[in-house]
Amino acid sequence: MAEQTDKWTSAIDTTRPSIARAYDVVLHGKDNFEVDRAFVAEITKVVPEIYDVAAYNRQMLGRGVRFLVDQGVTQFLDLGSGLPTVQNTHQVAQEVDPASRVVYVDNDPMVLAHGRALLAENERTAVVASDLRDPAAILADKAVQELIDLDRPVGVLLVGILHHLHDDEDPQGIVEAYMAAVPSGSHLFITHFCDSSPESREAEQKYLALLGTGRFRTVAEITAFFHGCDLVEPGVVPLPLWRPETAVPEELTVGQRLMFGGIAVKR
Ligand code: SAM
Repeated sequence: MAEQTDKWTSAIDTTRPSIARAYDVVLHGKDNFEVDRAFVAEITKVVPEIYDVAAYNRQMLGRGVRFLVDQGVTQFLDLGSGLPTVQNTHQVAQEVDPASRVVYVDNDPMVLAHGRALLAENERTAVVASDLRDPAAILADKAVQELIDLDRPVGVLLVGILHHLHDDEDPQGIVEAYMAAVPSGSHLFITHFCDSSPESREAEQKYLALLGTGRFRTVAEITAFFHGCDLVEPGVVPLPLWRPETAVPEELTVGQRLMFGGIAVKR
């Protein structure tokens, strides 16, 4: 374990923006460097609402997790979980059902350091420093084996992450590998950057050029990730329209349409 920690914490690269730290910038966090803030400043030129987009995503994460616990799902695999912020998955889930268990998976060394500190006193939650593109390794991980009962429904969270996988990394196959490992009644929860406006296409170019990832998929492509599962209402929609808890304007802005999401149940 010590060896693994050294490997990950020595890997913090402050010369290039990281996905986790750039996301921390738009969530008004403090765990980021100048290079991450410079990247976000470039995106802001195309989508001035990018800070709001991050908030829509976090609000959707909260609504989605509460929905899943209401469905009786109390164990979660949060893949690409990000740096700890407010209302993290385990806090939302354990507020509704204190017995809820969460395994966070992320490959950013900063996430590992902060995640361990946050979770030190929560025995129903763990953070795994691994690459989610290797489902077999994640599923075989000790923390997953100990906390997640694969005979009971699991909430598989791929929130704000699949757009960071290129097509040639087989994101569809990766989603299917996780869903094949969990039983019927498990839920798949995805949010994703969407090719929904000229601004989103321009943002995609900036993400690819400056961050190296960022594939803004069509609604059809995002929906295809749910293959083999039944989408719950209202399906794959702009985030503010997924079971909103507050009034939604009739016409959505570019930022409100920048990410789409949905939740589906495994048959
Ligand atoms: N899921 C959180 C949310 O929606 O609020 C965080 C989303 S953040 C935009 C994406 C996270 O995925 C980052 O923390 C990044 O480090 C992580 N990530 C990116 N590629 C990954 C990979 N191949 N394996 C594991 N984590 C990855």
